[in-house]
Amino acid sequence: MSTGVAPFIAIDGPVGSGKTAVGRVLADRLGHMFLDTGVMYRAVTYLALQKQIALSDPDALVRLASSSGMELTGGPGEECRVIVRSGDVTDHLRSPEVDRSVSAVSAVSGVREVLVGLQREIAAKGQIVMVGRDIGTVVMSGAGLKIYLDASVEERARRRHAQLQESGTDIAYDTVLEDLRRRDDLDSSREVAPLKRAADAVDLTTDDLGIDEVVDRLEELARGPGFSGTGA
Ligand code: C5P
Repeated sequence: MSTGVAPFIAIDGPVGSGKTAVGRVLADRLGHMFLDTGVMYRAVTYLALQKQIALSDPDALVRLASSSGMELTGGPGEECRVIVRSGDVTDHLRSPEVDRSVSAVSAVSGVREVLVGLQREIAAKGQIVMVGRDIGTVVMSGAGLKIYLDASVEERARRRHAQLQESGTDIAYDTVLEDLRRRDDLDSSREVAPLKRAADAVDLTTDDLGIDEVVDRLEELARGPGFSGTGA
């Protein structure tokens, strides 16, 4: 049995399950690259809103995704920034408008093909913690360690609400809860690559756990024996 740190770590879960915060700290601790794939779907959505492209026009959305020139910066320990032809769009990706529209964009199979291709190119560069909805099932189905994080919908809405307040967006908790339920529903019921735990994923419910506690647990798993997994 081989030993060593799991080179490819897939973390999936719904909005507010803690996957992005946890994944980033885990990657730092292990010296892995970190990729939050949600920002890529958000970037295409932001561009579509900016260019007034109809979210009901899949062909236009696919053209937009493949011509965006999207690049992600940031090695181990560095912040991940999303750069497109028109510049750095990172600071625009977490607005309520993007939140509301992103599930329509991510349901388009051609958009997914473009972004999954990019995600696999990034994973081919080295050891990585990648987070999203379909990482363990599609993007890195050969990953040595797959995690499925979850938490109750109320706790997830509370976290997202706090995040929005912190960034200066004043929005009612009930609106956040409702939006989150709708997004969960769309992400889990779409035909292509729905949010789903991989059969071989380790489940972790984060309701009563702080980020460090979750990361401790995942680090233990990542440093456990027997890792030989490949990426895609
Ligand atoms: O993780 P985050 O909430 O930032 O993701 C935004 C949206 O991007 C999700 O609601 C989902 O529709 C989409 N997404 C996806 N597949 C991924 C990552 C995100 O469909 N791997």
